[in-house]
Amino acid sequence: MSKVIIISAPSGSGKSTLISFLMKENALRLEFSVSATTRQPRGQEVNGKDYHFLSVNDFEKKISENAFVEYEQVYQGRYYGTLKSEIERIFSNGNNVIFDVDVKGGINLKEIFGDKALSVFIQPPSVEELRKRLQGRGTDSVEEIEKRVAKAEEEMSYAKNFDRIIINDDLEKASKEIIETVKEFVG
Ligand code: ADP
Ligand code: 5GP
Repeated sequence: MSKVIIISAPSGSGKSTLISFLMKENALRLEFSVSATTRQPRGQEVNGKDYHFLSVNDFEKKISENAFVEYEQVYQGRYYGTLKSEIERIFSNGNNVIFDVDVKGGINLKEIFGDKALSVFIQPPSVEELRKRLQGRGTDSVEEIEKRVAKAEEEMSYAKNFDRIIINDDLEKASKEIIETVKEFVG
């Protein structure tokens, strides 16, 4: 039976980096659930692979069609949502699904999937380190970085609601830990 892996964290904690390590482990049979968003693509992001990039109108149409399992305005005026069609596609392939969602989305998905799901919170060593990583990534404007850092403190307080917390201080250590944790869960 397919299982569900939920990865949440403040932006800049290293979620995408750790998910890319997990995706290389073929034995875990993970398929990434491509979310929909109304934000603009950044860096090397590809439509349909990293996100389904939608206009606000198209996103709201999908809300009215009940196409999402969950969605949030993660930042004011910016929608992000998990499409039911993604989950159905991945389950019908017989694979396990992996989600990259904000902390509220992560808690909602854990409630929906229950024991079928493992929810993992990626914790940055500090908020200051988070700011440095976002600056180092070089994909967001100064205002965008400050918006993300401002939200991080509140997001960190939700860590205790997750099944596991992984501290992403040393990347090699964190990647080994997350691979072991997921391996154990998917069996
Ligand atoms: P998220 O997906 O959570 O927003 P990213 O995976 O894009 O975060 O990581 C943010 C930045 O921090 C990237 O430039 C990434 O290479 C870097 N990074 C990730 N993990 C670490 C780590 N343990 N130490 C230092 N830099 C890291
Ligand atoms: P980013 O703009 O950095 O790609 O993502 C911003 C935040 O939105 C991240 O915390 C990311 O995990 C979250 N996010 C991405 N897709 C979804 C989704 O489908 N639902 C929810 N609730 N959050 C999402």
